[in-house]
Amino acid sequence: MSDQPICKSRRDAIKVMLGAAVAVPLINLVGVGAARAAVPANAVTEDDPTAVALKYHRDATKSDRVAAARPGLPPEQQHCANCQFMQPEVAEGDEWKGCQLFPGKLINVNGWCASWTLRAS
Ligand code: SF4
Repeated sequence: MSDQPICKSRRDAIKVMLGAAVAVPLINLVGVGAARAAVPANAVTEDDPTAVALKYHRDATKSDRVAAARPGLPPEQQHCANCQFMQPEVAEGDEWKGCQLFPGKLINVNGWCASWTLRAS
């Protein structure tokens, strides 16, 4: 038996170990991203009757905020995070908060609805 197959085998083993060393952190990053994007079970859905009536969308850029802009700020600056009805004390993470118009549910801070009203500072 020659040494050559053993050396090739060691090289292959090292390649597998290096691949795993790179892959594990990448898998963890993907997992963190998925967790961040998770939508809470009690998040307002777009087919919620109140959400439909108020034209709520959890992504303000996809809402009617330009066509139905409210006074106080330019439409592109209107979102739940600066609305007086958002309840920052009711929260699940940084992205999901309570809203006085959706009791017991959570809205996205980047959302918008037709009741948007500029928060008094
Ligand atoms: S009332 Fe304000 S905080 Fe509540 S969904 Fe509408 S824009 Fe967002």
